[in-house]
Amino acid sequence: MKTIEIDGKTFVETFDAETITGWIQNVANQINHDYEGTDPLFVGILNGAFIFAADLFRRITLNSRIQFMRLRSYDNMSSTGQIQELLGLEDKDVAGKDIIIVEDIVDTGTTMHYLKKRLKDQGAKSVKIACLCTKPEALQFEDAKPDYVGKDIANLYVIGYGFDVDGLARNLNAIYTLKK
Ligand code: 5GP
Repeated sequence: MKTIEIDGKTFVETFDAETITGWIQNVANQINHDYEGTDPLFVGILNGAFIFAADLFRRITLNSRIQFMRLRSYDNMSSTGQIQELLGLEDKDVAGKDIIIVEDIVDTGTTMHYLKKRLKDQGAKSVKIACLCTKPEALQFEDAKPDYVGKDIANLYVIGYGFDVDGLARNLNAIYTLKK
């Protein structure tokens, strides 16, 4: 079993790059099918989703645009429950659009609960969520349940493939899980 040490913590390889690519292709296929003939706006959430967003968007065959927002809800390795919007979208970019949020992971759902309301308040026609991973056991907001999911995972901290620990490990090709 492949393990890595970061900041004195041990993480175990859980999903390899090929497996992750398969999840992303599935998500892209579903979106390409569901949105056929339309041009939804993809909104990638920085920082964590930048790799997923790039890999997903290259598999999208729709005539779509992508923009990015930067939100912060995590402080080190736990959710603060408070959302900071560090980079937002203008109302004119959002009004009347079908939006697909591209998020790395839905954990408690606090971030997506906030963002769905925010985008609807800005005039979005519809808002759906695509995420690489979700932790169903941790979800606290029904409206934050993602519409397109790469993989349901256990309620444990993961790193790699865009997921960080204190800013590190985003560049790992596989996903690693914190060893209990
Ligand atoms: P939520 O608001 O759903 O509780 O948390 C969402 C955000 O928390 C994600 O966008 C991500 O940045 C961060 N997060 C949640 N779980 C994990 C995890 O297991 N690993 C990492 N690196 N970040 C996580």
